[in-house]
Amino acid sequence: MIEVELKVRLKKDEIPNLIRKLENLGFKKYTKMEEIDTYFNGIDRDFRKTDEALRVRKAVDFHKKYINYYLTYKGPKIDDKSKTREEYQVIVNDGDVTKVILEKLGFKSLPPIKKIREIYKNSGDITVSIDEVEGIGYFAEFEKTVKSESEREDAMKDLMDLIRSLNISDERLIRLSYLELRDIYEKER
Ligand code: ATP
Ligand code: CA
Ligand code: CA
Repeated sequence: MIEVELKVRLKKDEIPNLIRKLENLGFKKYTKMEEIDTYFNGIDRDFRKTDEALRVRKAVDFHKKYINYYLTYKGPKIDDKSKTREEYQVIVNDGDVTKVILEKLGFKSLPPIKKIREIYKNSGDITVSIDEVEGIGYFAEFEKTVKSESEREDAMKDLMDLIRSLNISDERLIRLSYLELRDIYEKER
């Protein structure tokens, strides 16, 4: 699977207007989640350098009232504008045991990243997440998942069209991960 993703930082007071615009474009609120992400670093290589990710996620769905755990691998970003990359994800039934397995194998966990995520979807498989990341701030992510490389350009175009319809300038796109953003904040403090 290929995750095609754009990300922008938001000011808190921009959010109501963004939601209004999304609704005008046919997006509907899908759900609200708390996500607690534990990332691991590699044994044979530094995932920060290789731009890969290995993650165990706990996702608490407030609307549908369930908790899911996911094990996810992400490959390096494959263009220089977006956060597009390969992504493989499975549901696991016990997040803590999954973390223990990875730790026993030598992967080193990083302090978790927590966020509240409101998810909007349209009929065309685009997902918009409005994230409040603990200690880091507010962000919007625009995403489409595709099965093959040949679909990547079209997905990217759909997402760029969407952000333009929302009057979000390309210059606001960021490629930093929440982990990198946390590092920057911790150094500034
Ligand atoms: P998703 O889109 O899957 O819901 P997210 O939006 O919560 O994830 P992102 O910031 O988009 O989080 O992606 C997680 C990022 O963490 C990846 O970009 C990955 O490259 C980065 N990352 C993973 N491991 C490390 C590490 N050890 N050091 C620094 N960054 C890492
Ligand atoms: Ca994503
Ligand atoms: Ca993301």
